[in-house]
Amino acid sequence: MFVASLLLFSCTNNPKSSVSQTMNDQTQSEVISELKQKYPSANPMRIERGVKQAAELWQNEQGNKADFKEFCLTNFVADSLKTDRLFEKLQRNYEILWGNYGIMGMQLNEPIDLTGGEVEEIDLAFGAYSPSAHLVQDLYNNKIAFITALNFPQYSLDEKNQLGKNWSQRDWAYARMGEMFTARIPSELNMSMSKASSDADVYIASYNVPMGELRNNDGEQLFPKGMNLLTHWNLRDEIKANYSNKENGLEKQLMVYEVMKRIIDQTIPNEVINNETYQWNPYTNVVTKDGKQITATPEDGKRYQQIINLFNEMQKQDAMYPETMNNYIKRKFDGEMEISQAQCEELFTKFVSSPQAKKVGQIISARLGRPLQPFDIWYDGFKSRSSLDQNMLNSKTMNLYPNAQALEDDIDRMLVDLGYTKERAKYLADKIAVDPARGSGHARGGTMRGDKAHLRTRIGENGMDYKGYNIAIHELGHNVEQTISLYDVNDYMLNGVPNTSFTEALAFMFQKRDLDLLNIKNTNKDQDLETLDTFVSLYEIMGVSLVDMRVWKWMYENPDADAQGLQNAVQDIAKAVWNEYYAPVFGMTDQPILAIYSHMISYPLYLSAYSFGHLIHYQLENHLANLSPKEFANEIDRIYMLGRLTPDRWMEEAVGETISIQPILDAVDQIDVKKYTVNN
Ligand SMILES: [Zn+2]
Repeated sequence: MFVASLLLFSCTNNPKSSVSQTMNDQTQSEVISELKQKYPSANPMRIERGVKQAAELWQNEQGNKADFKEFCLTNFVADSLKTDRLFEKLQRNYEILWGNYGIMGMQLNEPIDLTGGEVEEIDLAFGAYSPSAHLVQDLYNNKIAFITALNFPQYSLDEKNQLGKNWSQRDWAYARMGEMFTARIPSELNMSMSKASSDADVYIASYNVPMGELRNNDGEQLFPKGMNLLTHWNLRDEIKANYSNKENGLEKQLMVYEVMKRIIDQTIPNEVINNETYQWNPYTNVVTKDGKQITATPEDGKRYQQIINLFNEMQKQDAMYPETMNNYIKRKFDGEMEISQAQCEELFTKFVSSPQAKKVGQIISARLGRPLQPFDIWYDGFKSRSSLDQNMLNSKTMNLYPNAQALEDDIDRMLVDLGYTKERAKYLADKIAVDPARGSGHARGGTMRGDKAHLRTRIGENGMDYKGYNIAIHELGHNVEQTISLYDVNDYMLNGVPNTSFTEALAFMFQKRDLDLLNIKNTNKDQDLETLDTFVSLYEIMGVSLVDMRVWKWMYENPDADAQGLQNAVQDIAKAVWNEYYAPVFGMTDQPILAIYSHMISYPLYLSAYSFGHLIHYQLENHLANLSPKEFANEIDRIYMLGRLTPDRWMEEAVGETISIQPILDAVDQIDVKKYTVNN
């Protein structure tokens, strides 16, 4: 999904591309005035922008000035009914093209993504291959891209936010059509980008730590044999799970954190990654076999080489863009998220330095009965399920879901439980497939009507454990969003949501209801606890987002850095962000923990989406509070049928206000500290 979206966005989400030398201003003016003469009643803005867009994309291979003039005079459609007919034909055919290529990409990647069979070189070769890599070039060659650009104007983010207030869904779909062809990226560059992305994915997806082989300083084994935890998601979840372990939970958490630090500073021995042959003491970094110490080799920068590889690919593309989009940071924020990086950073900084963070930190420390540890950024004790017995939960989910099919068969029952009618639940569930995956959970949306959404989940030999189930329900939220916003948004050009945060919001809403779906009574449901829980999630994820952003800024300032240089920089940045915003709450300095996120390696700059996901989730939950299940389901449908507006417009349509941290800060202010300082 990410490889595909990187490709798609790099072709579509940019306001303008570098001006073609051939079709200069003068040529453009001539064509514009001829078109205005030919169509005196046409909207002049459409002519001006259309000609400019087409000119910027036109290259010598398309023909000379006379050819360009001829092309524009022949292909500009002035009449609004004819324009609409052109629009409908274009969007039908783009759905066929992008949809089918999306399905091909998914199927070629199945040997890598799904369980069963060894991943061999040939699988990796197909996984790195992008069938649609030449599609865009083909559409330039046959001039369909130019017809699209000539007839459908692009709008800036600001224009979309302002003019969009009065746009119909079709107007929005026209605007999205105008963003189809905005920069020309050679297919070789798209293919090498795709390979770097795929390599980073494989690196992370096959990075397991055999916990049963860990030894503490007394030579003791704390974790069961055969427990393999994927970095960093499963490691983090193990820390979370141990808050309810009164026996040796803290000791286990401290050990997991030692492992994380070894991954971050790359002193982790190669011998203990994905390998159960050796025993490892992460405190001393000594590796043994049959009680005898062996000479181990540190991983030494492989982790950071993945980021460097991606950065090098981004840089090759940067040159293809105009100044407004000439680096990955701008493309990711202004282009893809449609929220500027500066706005993002300001919002996050304000949040993590808020006095409310100290208040929440004091509550956590009091509940734990000890000073805070760095990994308490993952404190899980505001969730009522932390007090539930993990074994009971595991056996329940393992019984219910011995395999992927069992989960797939249960989806329509879950949707009915959430408030959907039988018919609507079946309609949605029929469009969602569940696949057993190698990595942790993932949701891959359908790419055309007729294609299913895929819920990828990791299922052990004994069935799905609770951790896996909890993630699967999160992914199910994505799949439901993907299905509504593909099948029930009339115009394909408008399918989807403003950016990934908006799909995260629904994923979190589902995940939050995971116990309800198991029919386990959540006896101590408490709005304040939920607020505190969201606050903790935001506080953590905004910190790692700030690190991610600073790392990319650093790379652009140091474009020649190698893996070692980047490794040092990431650690410095992580510690600096910690010292600035976390040390005042945690009372200890120089902790590197914010650098552990795997997303930084394989999905760069994606983390901010999670923060917005939480904020939007919070605002949506407020909006949906006190609705009956039936109203809840109807409102989910109404909101996710809005389609891919800009974030600001979507939020105003959905809940009546734009994205904001204020509601949750205000809610924390109202919380009575004394009431929550006693755990359970
Ligand atoms: Zn998600």
